[in-house]
Amino acid sequence: MEEVNSKGFWRKPLDIEKIEIKKGNVFIDEELCKGCGFCIEFCPGGVLEKQDKLNSKGYHPPYVKHPEKCTGCGFCERVCPEFAIVVEKTIEKESVK
Ligand code: SF4
Ligand code: SF4
Repeated sequence: MEEVNSKGFWRKPLDIEKIEIKKGNVFIDEELCKGCGFCIEFCPGGVLEKQDKLNSKGYHPPYVKHPEKCTGCGFCERVCPEFAIVVEKTIEKESVK
């Protein structure tokens, strides 16, 4: 039987060097947040979650619960009415062992 690698492929893809995975680092200014929840609701990857703690204005700001799922789409940054989110876009090279 063929050996399966960590990605579930039976062989290394020929174009592996060209495969790039888009990722994002999300920075949240908790003090600017008004707790509307738009960023949490509209994130396509379900990356963000509401915190239990309150900021100084009495709102629950979000936090990055699943950073590995973030694609860097920047949607959370765009929908935030308080400009509390900044997304840094990064690219990872695919690796298959
Ligand atoms: S950049 Fe996109 S995927 Fe990442 S947290 Fe924001 S909305 Fe979600
Ligand atoms: S969209 Fe902005 S203001 Fe609304 S919960 Fe997210 S960070 Fe807070």
